[in-house]
Amino acid sequence: MRATGVSRARQTIVWWLALVLAACRPAEAAVPVTATPSATLPPVVVVVASDTPAAHTPTEPHPTATLTPGPSATVVTPSVTAAPPSATPLRPTPDAGAAGRRVRLPILMYHYVEPWPAGADVIRQGLTVKPEDFAAQMAYLHEHGYVTVSLYDLLEAVAQGTPLPEKAVALTFDDGYRTLLDYAVPVLQPYGYTGTVFVITQFMDEARPEYLTWAQAEALYAQGWKIEPHTKTHDNLKGRGRDFQLYQMLGSAQTVEAHIGAMPRFLAYPSGQYDALSVELAAEMNLWGAVTTVSGRNHTWAGRYEWTRVRVNGDDLLQDFINGLEGGA
Ligand SMILES: [Zn+2]
Repeated sequence: MRATGVSRARQTIVWWLALVLAACRPAEAAVPVTATPSATLPPVVVVVASDTPAAHTPTEPHPTATLTPGPSATVVTPSVTAAPPSATPLRPTPDAGAAGRRVRLPILMYHYVEPWPAGADVIRQGLTVKPEDFAAQMAYLHEHGYVTVSLYDLLEAVAQGTPLPEKAVALTFDDGYRTLLDYAVPVLQPYGYTGTVFVITQFMDEARPEYLTWAQAEALYAQGWKIEPHTKTHDNLKGRGRDFQLYQMLGSAQTVEAHIGAMPRFLAYPSGQYDALSVELAAEMNLWGAVTTVSGRNHTWAGRYEWTRVRVNGDDLLQDFINGLEGGA
């Protein structure tokens, strides 16, 4: 399995580089990325030197930090094998009713679930739901008959009208903090609840201790969680050039794919910052949807790259949580 993973990582990296190179050529900038879906990847053979950042056009400046290739980049070699078929199912085709359909589903947005650190400022406190509060929130969900569903379930609901459970909720955890394993997962497991972790892939490649390791993320995926990209370095996408946004979005998606063995299909925009180009790229790279930090509970097919969420704040009372869950629009 390890050898397969490495060769797949090589394939995905080389494919990504080919895309970036293609995107850098103005004459081909309009070629949609969707021309090469992962399930039918042609065997691309590109001889790449180890200085991969040179592949970027100099007209699109990047901060040095964001261009530092992760450890996986060091495995790039000219020997490329065909990628195995992706384990991801085909995207549900929208039916005739998709254009007019609105599906209500609270997508709860969490960041940290852990005790408030000493000296935490107001922003950090707001991002940090204390373990006892999280436990009370999940107990409320359980006692009131809620079940967790994924963004894949939501996509199917908006595309084809597939019914969601009457009381459905989606749990999302941005940034992929390691304390999730200490304070959130043990609370969720007894209820059979799972969630989506939006991971910052380069931080994981760098083995930063605050973030999940890849082994931990892979284990969560094996337990039914979803691991989806939150870009490589959490830089704002809004206002940035095509090359930078593609690098952040597709690069992180392919890193996730290399680890979990399936192309992830959803993205969370870092800090909720995105623009029309981000949405365009999300469609071109064949994402199925993306979530923002805008507040809301109703979702459409047309708006699938700008799905709204319900923020759970660290200083919320249980009643605030209930209002967010059960509120209107
Ligand atoms: Zn984030």
